[in-house]
Amino acid sequence: MSTIKFYSGEKIPLEMHKVRIIQKLNLPPVEQRLEAMKEAGYNTFLLKNQDVFMDMLTDSGVNAMSDRQQASMLEADDSYAGSATFTKLEEKLTEIFGTKYFLPTHQGRACENIISQAYVTEGSIVPMNYHFTTTKAHIVLNGGIVEEVFIDEALNLTSTCPFKGNIDIEKLSNLIETNGADKIAFVRMEAGTNLIGGQPFALENMREVRKVCDAHNLLLVLDASLLADNLYFIKQREEEYKDKSIREITREFADLADITYFSARKLSFARGGGIITNSEEAYLKMREYITLYEGFLTYGGMSVREMEAMVVGLDETMDEQMINQGPQFISYMTDELIKNGVPVITPAGGLGCHVNAMDFISHIPQEQYPAAALAAAIYIAGGVRGMERGTMSEQRDANGVEPLAHMELVRLAMPRRVFTLSQVKYAVDRIVWLYENRELIGGLQFVEEPTTMRFFFGKLGAQTDWPDKLAAKFREDFGDSL
Ligand SMILES: *Cc1c(COP(=O)(O)O)cnc(C)c1O
Repeated sequence: MSTIKFYSGEKIPLEMHKVRIIQKLNLPPVEQRLEAMKEAGYNTFLLKNQDVFMDMLTDSGVNAMSDRQQASMLEADDSYAGSATFTKLEEKLTEIFGTKYFLPTHQGRACENIISQAYVTEGSIVPMNYHFTTTKAHIVLNGGIVEEVFIDEALNLTSTCPFKGNIDIEKLSNLIETNGADKIAFVRMEAGTNLIGGQPFALENMREVRKVCDAHNLLLVLDASLLADNLYFIKQREEEYKDKSIREITREFADLADITYFSARKLSFARGGGIITNSEEAYLKMREYITLYEGFLTYGGMSVREMEAMVVGLDETMDEQMINQGPQFISYMTDELIKNGVPVITPAGGLGCHVNAMDFISHIPQEQYPAAALAAAIYIAGGVRGMERGTMSEQRDANGVEPLAHMELVRLAMPRRVFTLSQVKYAVDRIVWLYENRELIGGLQFVEEPTTMRFFFGKLGAQTDWPDKLAAKFREDFGDSL
């Protein structure tokens, strides 16, 4: 319905918006890109934006706002307590999700801090489809244990499974029965499962999880940060929902969860976060933490202007033509890379295109951070900034042992409504070139290694002079081109 067919038969996504504010981009020549990467310690987080052509690091807080969102920001009611903007946002959340209570936070991980402080105790277990970095960090900080009960297909990188984010119901039930329900803090489901490639779960699966939770009297917590993508995929891939509206599908998600939280840096094309629930008990249990960590109850650390933008952004999330652009561009990029033999995660998910570094550069052992090396190489090749999602994103255990990640991925995020198709084609072109020259890529080692969230600040060095050789080959192949 929302796919517009071309007379020529060509299958490309069509933007259903036009660009009315632009930001000029800078593409430094390859020699400068090499220097910038060295200076950043081969960590794409440490690059300066000025040196980045396509910023595909994240979809967080970098999605394009609409004209209506920008306009709404001028109407914000700035007051410490009782802001009319807060009431507007609270009412919008009730309208869309059907929940009574709203606790505002400054971003998604703040919700995780509060939920974990309220519900996680020493030794308690949180089963989930898959962890997210900040989620796990907060649960572990409160003494909890993350248990992933994903379906086997979740870690199959080249799959046709439409719902790799599903929970394995049998694994969940067994976990609860083995440990006893009173050991379980809550069950968590993450929409658009971030770390396995933005993969959705099915509503049918969530209904099954709900049944298990009901049977054991457990809370079901929904991380709705990437809900927009999951909504789109439900409509596309889950037969029984193909004629349901995005609003109806959204309500079904919310009705199945006891507590829903989200990062508004993703959901609603703005910045902020929040926890919503119909349970007065849950609301009261978490409320005190808001004033302690976030701010007063009617802003929770958010700017009122962003809250106005969230109100409009949530409405836009209910419009299929507003939320389909990301997944359609990602699908296009994924297909083009596959055509050229580049190993990527399939099926294409939300959030971004995920390149499989373990296959791309199979000659580099996990101890030498292949995903980080590939992310660095992609930047050198095209000024495209992706994010390492592999062993570098893991954390050493109490004994200093480094766990090897399930997957070594480079995530090329597709900020919503930001890039044009020619820019995406450019990124594909440079990655294909890199794939042809993959034997030039080498490994990395830590030079400065922080103990927590080391992927944010850690600095690495190249094991050999491979980055120089790669840049030289680029110059040879591309002549005077940037
Ligand atoms: C981004 C994200 C978070 C954390 O949100 P922030 O706003 O970045 O703190 C939590 N869960 C998921 C699934 C996310 O994608």
